[in-house]
Amino acid sequence: MMYITKAMIEIRNLLQKVGQSNTVTLPAIVVIGSQSSGKSSVLESIVGHEFLPKGSNMITRRPIELTLVNEPDAKQDYGEFPDLGLHRITDFSLIQKNLTELNMSVSESECVSDDPIHLVIHSPRVPDLSLIDLPGYIQVAGENQPRELKRKISELCDKYIRGPNIILAISAADVDLANSTALQASRRVDPRGERTIGVITKMDLVDAEKGAAILSDRQYPLRLGYVGVISKLPTQSGLFKRDTGNVLATISRNEKTYFNSYPDQFGPDAGVNTGTVTLRKKLMQVLEQQMSSKLQVTTDAIHRELEETSYQFKVQYNEEPMTAEAYLAASLDDFKHLFHKFASSFGRPQMHELLKGALDQRVLDQLAARYWNKPISDLSTALPEPDSIADLPKADPKSPYWHLQLDTASSALTRLGVGRLATTVVASAVQANVDQLVSKSAFAKHPSARQVISDAASTVLADRAYTTSDGIEFSLKPYKYEVDIQQQEWQQGRDHVTGVLKTELDHCQGAMKNLENVVGGKKKLKEVMTFVDKARKGDIVAEGETRNGAGGFSAALLAKGREAVFLRDRADIINMRMLAVKSRQCKNLENKYYCPEVFLDAVATKLTQTAVLFLNVEMLNDFYARFPREVESKLSEQMHGGGLERFAREDPRIKRHLDLVKRKELLELVLAKIEGLNQMGSGDRGRELHD
Ligand code: GDP
Repeated sequence: MMYITKAMIEIRNLLQKVGQSNTVTLPAIVVIGSQSSGKSSVLESIVGHEFLPKGSNMITRRPIELTLVNEPDAKQDYGEFPDLGLHRITDFSLIQKNLTELNMSVSESECVSDDPIHLVIHSPRVPDLSLIDLPGYIQVAGENQPRELKRKISELCDKYIRGPNIILAISAADVDLANSTALQASRRVDPRGERTIGVITKMDLVDAEKGAAILSDRQYPLRLGYVGVISKLPTQSGLFKRDTGNVLATISRNEKTYFNSYPDQFGPDAGVNTGTVTLRKKLMQVLEQQMSSKLQVTTDAIHRELEETSYQFKVQYNEEPMTAEAYLAASLDDFKHLFHKFASSFGRPQMHELLKGALDQRVLDQLAARYWNKPISDLSTALPEPDSIADLPKADPKSPYWHLQLDTASSALTRLGVGRLATTVVASAVQANVDQLVSKSAFAKHPSARQVISDAASTVLADRAYTTSDGIEFSLKPYKYEVDIQQQEWQQGRDHVTGVLKTELDHCQGAMKNLENVVGGKKKLKEVMTFVDKARKGDIVAEGETRNGAGGFSAALLAKGREAVFLRDRADIINMRMLAVKSRQCKNLENKYYCPEVFLDAVATKLTQTAVLFLNVEMLNDFYARFPREVESKLSEQMHGGGLERFAREDPRIKRHLDLVKRKELLELVLAKIEGLNQMGSGDRGRELHD
């Protein structure tokens, strides 16, 4: 068993994961040859399986980095695409299919890509080797091949055939060696032929004499020599079953039959190397030697890289450890902390305020619809001294009309669907708060986790919405028939509604200011308003308004004018009603028919109190208990299958930290492995070589 190669290949693959490792490069065997030189056939005979993309128009567009792992106990040969997370593929036609697809993923316009495909093949029958299959050189670009292709393939190959890689230069016996593109390329980078193995394929296509002459070539001497092979697979026959891992056996049988029949040219005394089995042995030896010779420099280089990485770790992160799990846990803690703070600040008083605010608007709607919709003239003529205000309604409190008005308004309030309104108002406030918490938390930088948390909140809230709303309606039932208000509640209603009216007045005035700005000043607006007023009173015969407007005002201006008149009238009424609410009459509960504003406000407060009690128990407390659990469970679902790493790496700061930690760990692992190899001592290693 060639132990060093196996260990070094493992180290090589680990180092690839480290990334950006420029100082440490371990050798691999790079396979080059022109198209149809028999390159694929040679590789497949080494592996013992047909697995490379085939087809008349199939040009390899990406390098295939092929790692062969000798696994003595493997029951079946299998392949893996580690980058794709595909493991234990025992059907080699599936490997071929995958390679074809990966190859085709490079567009024609891009020609070739230097992004390698990683394939690992395990078998008890393969040696430990690290091979790189490159696109075949093309001699003359075909009509339907882009001109770029030839140049790009050459550039790609040049990148890979640099030292310390070993070049496996494939040339066909029936093509003059002087024309071998593979040898030409190798000579450019390895002029003394020190790290090139020549492989002459199609030995069966030239006569034995000529074949032997090529193998003992003196014109292009290579220190590692030439090996002649016949790697063409026999066409499928009853005897040869495809893909049983017997490709090598079949080929070597064929080769033996052929080479043995020319003992003078290829026999033991002829001094030439022939056969795929010989080629495999040579590859193993050469790679082992190359790896051994690199042992010390690699060890030193890894030491240096590790030192540099450890230094960076200290300087940048003060040696603080970091894992994706720990980051998630810390982010969750951070979020929970924010959430608990919110939970302790959002309870009954806050819900009360929210719901009462929503109901205040409904109260205003009722007042406007049932009381304030008097013609403006009725009201303005009745504007009395502030103290004696008795207007609206100023009719007899015993009048059934005003009783009916107040009863209808109050019943409209109790029946407007407070359950639904309360649940919606509180649920959306909680949802908005949660979304805001997320944007302040560590999850802010993680769009999909944000979504998960937001969805978790909606789910838990929606779960309870229906029963809560129903429950509230049920508990409000008695108010739908009668609302009993106490003097103290009346007093509070009076105070509160004064504030509501004041705010409404401010809104009217604000909107008026806005209109002034829009039409181009107070004076202009006044002019339009005067026109609208006159038109309404009939002072102007008919507005005669057309689409172009009237009275010298455009239609748009008139619309603004009407809006302003409405706002002014509403402000007048509100002013007047504010005085009424402040007046003596409204001090007393007895006068509720005079003061519908106060009465309706008190009713709204009662509804709010009952709804909030219910909301607190049925919705909010349940939410506080269930939401953190829901977040945890939904997040952990999302973290499956690589989700955790993806999540942590969304934050660039964490990604850098994680990368450095990982790099350090990998380098430590590599160093331990390589030092283990060094400790074996050269004596042990010598013995291993001969096993
Ligand atoms: P690639 O384009 O360099 O990968 O070449 P392939 O391995 O696809 O081989 C090209 C053609 O040569 C195929 O038709 C093979 O069957 C044939 N071929 C490969 N090796 C040999 C060989 O040793 N002898 C003979 N006669 N044909 C071969």
